Amino acid sequence: MTGKRFSIPILLLAWACTFLSCDRDKDAAQAQGQPRTDTSTTGSKAATPPLTFPPDSGPPPTFDGNRSIEYVKEIVAFGPRPIGSANHKKVEDYITSHLKGDAVEDDTFTADTPEGKFPVHNIIAKFPGTKDGIIVIASHYDTNYPLRNTPYVGANDGGSSSALLLELANQMRGQKRDGYSVWLVWDDAEESVKPDTEVNFLSDSLYGIQHLADTWQADGTLKKIKAFLLADMIGDADLDIDRDQNSTPWLEDTVLEAATRLGYQSHFFARSNSMLDDHLPFVKRGVPSADLIDFTYGYHNVFWHTPQDTVDKLSPKSLDIVGCVILETVRLLDTK
Ligand SMILES: [Zn+2]
Repeated sequence: MTGKRFSIPILLLAWACTFLSCDRDKDAAQAQGQPRTDTSTTGSKAATPPLTFPPDSGPPPTFDGNRSIEYVKEIVAFGPRPIGSANHKKVEDYITSHLKGDAVEDDTFTADTPEGKFPVHNIIAKFPGTKDGIIVIASHYDTNYPLRNTPYVGANDGGSSSALLLELANQMRGQKRDGYSVWLVWDDAEESVKPDTEVNFLSDSLYGIQHLADTWQADGTLKKIKAFLLADMIGDADLDIDRDQNSTPWLEDTVLEAATRLGYQSHFFARSNSMLDDHLPFVKRGVPSADLIDFTYGYHNVFWHTPQDTVDKLSPKSLDIVGCVILETVRLLDTK
């Protein structure tokens, strides 16, 4: 999760107000950088009529939270993994080593940042389906660059969701997908290279996913994407996924429907926030997008972007909940 999470670019605000039915008072508060903690809108912001889905036709999805948290431990064992570092390269290799036999593509380029040029490497694993269209599930895997000389390992921020995607790949591998194609994306250079307090959000963050959105817009892929699901900071043992005002309401409602079907709805959307995260390049291009993030990581988010972001704060159950809810969401989307 990158910095400056509560201030929103004006253009995005205008877009959001068109599609998310914001009121002007909330926009004004947001534009001034004030945290938004309004919980009164939970479940009521659908811009489209409520979606209805058929009953599930099979058993609930399966996920292995214990294996997933072992992946988290292995990722953080490499140490800090900021862009341009040797550890970063090790984690790239670690991720691709788990995708042997899968259809993997690379999106590699050089990012020009306020701290110089860095190689950036998005990793995409494609699981083909029978329906025409793509569901993208994404997570960044880099750690915060300004903390590169500290013990910061981003167990939750970047680690948990990257591990989650590795386990999603395990669940999909070898299975015939009777639905949309699913593309898993480990995107790179999400974090800003300047400290959170100095970040110009539009120019110093989301390097990898921005490049991927541009690439997919240019080659026509973007039009095929039915949904963009982002996972970020989803391993907290005290799991409370925020409803995000910048996400697409009907898609978040679909996530809530999935969570409710699995009995996990108490972990979703009790709070409302406005997240600046990897989904924004897709939101701005009109792709239905949902950011699944728990941005209260410790009291007042105290562990975020600190060396206290360690595996002991996480739970395999949280990974299991989010993994199953994402798979159930995909199953619901497959019916449309
Ligand atoms: Zn972060």
